[in-house]
Amino acid sequence: MPKLSRYNHLQPWTEGYYIAYNAGSGALALMTTENRAVYDTLAAKLAAGPQPELTEKENELLGQLKYGRFAFDDDHDEREAMQFRHNMDRYDQTTLALIIAPTMACNMACPYCYESNKQGRMSAETVEALIGFVEKRAPGLQGINTTWYGGEPMLALDIIEDLSKSFMDIGKESKTAYTSSLISNGYLMTPEIVDRLVEWQVGSVQVTIDGPARLHNVKRPLKNGRPSFETIIQNIAHAVTKMKVSVRVNIDKTFDRDIIVELLGELKTAGLHDKIGLYFGLIEPSATVCSNIAESCYETADFSKVETEYYRLLLEYGFRIDKLPAPSSTYCMAQMTNSFLIDPKGELYRCFNYVGDAAQSMGNIRNDINYQHENFRRLFAFDPFHEPHCYDCNLLPVCMGGCPSRRGDRGLSGDQMCESWKHNLQPMLEIIARSRQAQQQQRAAAAAKENL
Ligand code: SF4
Ligand code: SF4
Repeated sequence: MPKLSRYNHLQPWTEGYYIAYNAGSGALALMTTENRAVYDTLAAKLAAGPQPELTEKENELLGQLKYGRFAFDDDHDEREAMQFRHNMDRYDQTTLALIIAPTMACNMACPYCYESNKQGRMSAETVEALIGFVEKRAPGLQGINTTWYGGEPMLALDIIEDLSKSFMDIGKESKTAYTSSLISNGYLMTPEIVDRLVEWQVGSVQVTIDGPARLHNVKRPLKNGRPSFETIIQNIAHAVTKMKVSVRVNIDKTFDRDIIVELLGELKTAGLHDKIGLYFGLIEPSATVCSNIAESCYETADFSKVETEYYRLLLEYGFRIDKLPAPSSTYCMAQMTNSFLIDPKGELYRCFNYVGDAAQSMGNIRNDINYQHENFRRLFAFDPFHEPHCYDCNLLPVCMGGCPSRRGDRGLSGDQMCESWKHNLQPMLEIIARSRQAQQQQRAAAAAKENL
């Protein structure tokens, strides 16, 4: 007997339509009000017992639902399949993901940043040891992925060059795909440097902007006190022609609607509205990050309210909306055995919150990986399929139990752990559907113009 997915979400949209979303597959579709009524009778019949007598319309809808993974045959247990994928990816040894901080130094002095007072640059000896670390693991790998991180990684471009070239060579020799990305404050990412990054297979960059120019220049000042906003925007305007650029705007309680409107206006004037993926990030008062500004940080439930409001503004101002409730097999690298953060000394970490804090290291690239190390096990141990609150959650495929550090280190539990999707799924789905509709209309208008 067929069955409906436990991860279906249906909600009214414009007159005559419902939005149908499935958290297990990420499918998003429009359903007519008529089909919504058929869905209800179908659901009731399937729940009533085996061998239901379905009408032609119910059978037709069932076929469409199966196609979009909103329904399955009886022999498929979607939660069990998801748990299997989760475990496969936790223990996957075919992809090596490294987030590498070639330096902890930074050219900015943001008040919430845990790295601001840290120094240290990767020595030539550590560079060699890191190449050896990757070489040793390359046989048997299908993919090597690096993310350059810091500090500000652009301050150690020579190290990125050395390591990138070596990793690209290792990838060629072992027939392993090599991909790379970058997290940068964007100030030093000049057109010449972007061209070099592209040569080193850096395909995407994430840049943080903390508000419109007048606020960003205060919140993210250069160490020498000079403003950075204008240079960053110029750099992004070039970077979007060469690589995928996402812009993170860190949100705390000092932001309001007018500030976001001002920022969006400035980005639109720079012609970036349809070229970047802008998203809003929650700054959290974790053990080390943001502890000095904890009072201005949101908890997720409150963040989700302003997040929805700000996404509405993105839509209104014609920005692309990239944020989607997409399914993922794990929440983050802390749940995976072959993903590591590496600091300039070659120390291995499990979480962005702790990079550079030697007491939180789980070992060093020069030694064998110790999966019994307390700093590995502490964050790895959490399994959302063993947490009743999450096991029965209809957003489990998207959230996977949330940030392990929030749970294990901050001691949050229950709804405090939930991602903002849990609080704002309905309005966000509406915004995403409207954004897709606007994009379709733009494409249709462009096609019609071409045919004139
Ligand atoms: S444990 Fe949480 S803070 Fe740490 S890397 Fe994962 S998601 Fe980020
Ligand atoms: S943390 Fe919340 S939203 Fe995430 S899976 Fe668990 S119950 Fe669901």
